[in-house]
Amino acid sequence: MLDLFPLTEEQREIERVARDFAAAEIVPYSRQWDRDSYFEIALVKKLGDLGFLGMLTAEEYDGLGLDTVTYLVALEEIAAADASVAVMMSVHNSLPTQMLATFGSEEQKQRFLKPMARGELLGAFALSEPEAGSDAAALTTQAVRDGDDWILNGTKSWVTSGPYAGVILVQARTDTSADRKGARGIGAFIVTPDLAGFSVGKKEDKMGLRASPTVQIVLDGVRVPAANLLGDPSMGYVYAMRSLNAGRLGIAAQAVGIARAAFDAAVAYAAERRQFGQPIRDFQGIQFKLSNMATRISAARALLHAAARAKDANASSAKQAASMAKLFASETAMWVTTEAVQVFGGYGYVKDYPVEKLFRDAKITEIYEGTSEIQRIVIARELYA
Ligand SMILES: Cc1cc2nc3c(=O)[nH]c(=O)nc-3n(C[C@H](O)[C@H](O)[C@H](O)COP(=O)(O)OP(=O)(O)OC[C@H]3O[C@@H](n4cnc5c(N)ncnc54)[C@H](O)[C@@H]3O)c2cc1C
Repeated sequence: MLDLFPLTEEQREIERVARDFAAAEIVPYSRQWDRDSYFEIALVKKLGDLGFLGMLTAEEYDGLGLDTVTYLVALEEIAAADASVAVMMSVHNSLPTQMLATFGSEEQKQRFLKPMARGELLGAFALSEPEAGSDAAALTTQAVRDGDDWILNGTKSWVTSGPYAGVILVQARTDTSADRKGARGIGAFIVTPDLAGFSVGKKEDKMGLRASPTVQIVLDGVRVPAANLLGDPSMGYVYAMRSLNAGRLGIAAQAVGIARAAFDAAVAYAAERRQFGQPIRDFQGIQFKLSNMATRISAARALLHAAARAKDANASSAKQAASMAKLFASETAMWVTTEAVQVFGGYGYVKDYPVEKLFRDAKITEIYEGTSEIQRIVIARELYA
């Protein structure tokens, strides 16, 4: 497929490593994991050994200290093999890792960031609540100071990797006064599952991404040491929003990987499936589908890599570019997987072929880390700025 931004030799090497790893450790099992809703915990250590859980983390904290494009290249490969593994890798590398790296104290980095980069601790992020989704700043989980600790009470929903995470960045309201407003007055807490009062609640029974556990986290008087508060107690939400660019780009890379896998499957099937005495790829109607799929995937990847470069350059356009990349790539994934099912005809609708799963997995990319509607709001805000 057309590569609008050719990769460097180092990036090609990382791409090869990711592809080989996925072919050996993920592809043979992915369909079964999906059927069983099974999370393969052993992958955390294996991805850690490759350095894939600290790709953006500085080398002094046991990461690879790579640029964002290289990270996204690896993530696309993992997502093309299995979107559930990719979301675990994306969430870990983005919000918990980025927030610790940017806003954590030296002691917090030594205690959490280093083992996270090595794959010894899996990271998760708990912002959403049953009544606070797109309007996440409306969250009601409370954090009340008590001596050297903070006491957390509330329920978090949709926590990716929740049951297996060793570090969860929990957003909780520290300013509980009646006139408190929106985003200010929220702290970010490093919560570990060994703390009394912490429990994993309902596991969601999802349409796709079935091998990624998504759970509620219940915080019932959890006593979190003050040393586990990230930076300023009123700035946690602001820290999260500032760290979100990496997350959005990760989801966009996941979307490109899903779309590419569906495209590859459709191209191969169109060559082998015969109707009316010829391979269906010889019909112009099918050629047009494949051409449109290839064009949109190339455009999505180009926008994604451009947005990654803008992020690394601290460009003023970085936020808008990340939203555009996430919006375009996720809608591309949904569109391409829909077309891929169509190319497969009835066989696209059953689990014997890969596109049925890819179609189910694609949908979530339009929803989490900001829905498509929210991305359009972010883009418009920047247009009017
Ligand atoms: C599989 C999965 C994994 C997730 N992982 C995590 C995680 O690890 N951590 C975490 O904190 N959260 C996570 N989430 C939560 C996710 O980020 C939210 O689901 C998402 O932000 C949307 O919130 P909501 O589901 O409450 O939808 P709502 O906010 O209720 O939105 C419903 C609809 O209204 C639209 N809408 C809302 N506001 C506006 C507006 N102002 N203008 C126009 N349209 C609007 C939305 O776009 C959507 O179409 C996950 C969700 C899922 C499904």
